[in-house]
Amino acid sequence: MHSANAQGAIAVTGTSRGIGAAIALELARRGFVVGCLSRGGRSFLDEPAPDDDLRPRLLEETCDVTDEAAIRRALHAVAERGGGLCGLVNNAGVHLIGPAAEFSTADFQQVLSTNLTGVFVACREAYPLLRAQGGGLIVNIGSFFGRLGVRHTAAYCASKAGLSGLTRSLAVEWGPEGIAVLNLAPGYVETEISRKWLHKDWARERILARIPAGRPPTGEAVARLVAAFYAERLPYLTGETIYMDGGLSVSH
Ligand code: NDP
Repeated sequence: MHSANAQGAIAVTGTSRGIGAAIALELARRGFVVGCLSRGGRSFLDEPAPDDDLRPRLLEETCDVTDEAAIRRALHAVAERGGGLCGLVNNAGVHLIGPAAEFSTADFQQVLSTNLTGVFVACREAYPLLRAQGGGLIVNIGSFFGRLGVRHTAAYCASKAGLSGLTRSLAVEWGPEGIAVLNLAPGYVETEISRKWLHKDWARERILARIPAGRPPTGEAVARLVAAFYAERLPYLTGETIYMDGGLSVSH
């Protein structure tokens, strides 16, 4: 059910750039058909154009994850074009920061509706499509911030902590139907979302010094782990949050 020979496509949200683009490309390189869901309908904006041989396996669809109808339409379109749906990677995310005492409700809700409610809705809409294929694998992209308390980051931390609970609950509820659910929580990865910190010399040095592995994972490394989950058949691995942060969040 999770192999490159699987029936159907894997939908990935937020493939315009960053980690989502890397995941979509890595899955396609390994032979999977990939539904590339992006707000603007165009993926890989910060990457060299994908090789021609990958193109037929990359199915582009427009999807804003804060729009329920758009999620439903995009997942059905991917299933129709890809011969069913066998996986979903919930990668799209936003990171708004500010002191909690001044953080607006609208900003808090924007983070939650993208990073948590959008994931729930995508899982719910994918469920009947995955069942129709006899099961499948959902991978949520969390964050090591989900188990930390971080100043000026309450909304983002709450959204990513919430993903761990959502992952556990869906894994329990849908396990009997052959649907596994994982939460992959990377550490700092150099993309648009983290660039504002990682490009400040003082922050970069401080962060790098705290990572036992000496450096943050790349988007490609995160993508390789996601692809490995799909390439291997590991139905007993479900409900877990897996941290990939070079040891940063467990180091004292
Ligand atoms: P980027 O900012 O580079 O990419 C974010 C992606 O999410 C973009 O493709 C963006 O699309 C998309 N997106 C944002 N809002 C929506 C929406 N409403 N609907 C659809 N797509 C949307 O960030 P990363 O690649 O770094 O982040 C990817 C995931 O990894 C996020 O969930 C993030 O929280 C997580 N993560 C990142 C870490 C890091 O250090 N970079 C660390 C830990 C976790 P658009 O181009 O339309 O804006």
